[in-house]
Amino acid sequence: THFGYEQVQVDDKEKRVADVFHSVAAKYDLMNDLMSMGVHRLWKAIAIEYSGVRTGQRVLDIAGGTGDLTMRFSKLVGPTGQVVLADINDSMLKVGRDKLQDRGVSGNVRFVQANAEMLPFPDNHFDCITIAFGLRNVTDKQKALESMARVLKPGGRLLVLEFSKTNNPLLTKMYDTYSFSLLPMMGKLIVNDSESYKYLAESIRMHPDQETLKGMMEQAGLVRCSFHNMTGGIVALHKGIKP
Ligand code: SAM
Repeated sequence: THFGYEQVQVDDKEKRVADVFHSVAAKYDLMNDLMSMGVHRLWKAIAIEYSGVRTGQRVLDIAGGTGDLTMRFSKLVGPTGQVVLADINDSMLKVGRDKLQDRGVSGNVRFVQANAEMLPFPDNHFDCITIAFGLRNVTDKQKALESMARVLKPGGRLLVLEFSKTNNPLLTKMYDTYSFSLLPMMGKLIVNDSESYKYLAESIRMHPDQETLKGMMEQAGLVRCSFHNMTGGIVALHKGIKP
């Protein structure tokens, strides 16, 4: 049946994503620095800036992986606040937990294995939710956005940091060349896995553009949705508020 076919596709994607992140977990941070030439640090710093997170607040970093954002939020919210680092993949979570422990980040951070599509948290719980370079890996993105909206407090913010669409044809051409030939080559050299980095490039190409994602956030019930392009639209930061 048609339904049966779709089910297979969905399971395929979930398994593929799981394989990719189990495979790259140990070298994930190194690859991030190399592939983005360090710029991912800047993108993340801007996201933190936009979050407006303050002392004592409760933050969810979903698809948090190795914890770059969680680490910074942990300092911002202080001992009276709480940060939940959640990810579907236990290999990524383990690398994240070890890294945060090594850097002395603890006390106000919880680690939870969870799927963004069905978050295991109460309604109206978080002041801020971030999903950085994670949404494109989620099978049902609309469902994930709705789940995030549910666990946000009224007035709380959702920030989506994700690869997006450039509007400059030359930049697009350069970027495509980079992601479809250089990226898999680097993947091969560094983690001996070019397939995972091919997946990465494909998932970026398939991801909804700025306006579409904004519409999906509105559809999920968020208001005052807007986005901010970075690096010519290679990355966009979307923001929405729960009414
Ligand atoms: N946020 C981190 C960062 O910016 O460095 C990690 C980003 S990493 C590219 C994407 C993460 O999304 C992986 O750790 C992966 O396990 C996680 N992920 C994929 N699908 C997910 C889902 N359905 N729910 C939660 N996390 C998911």
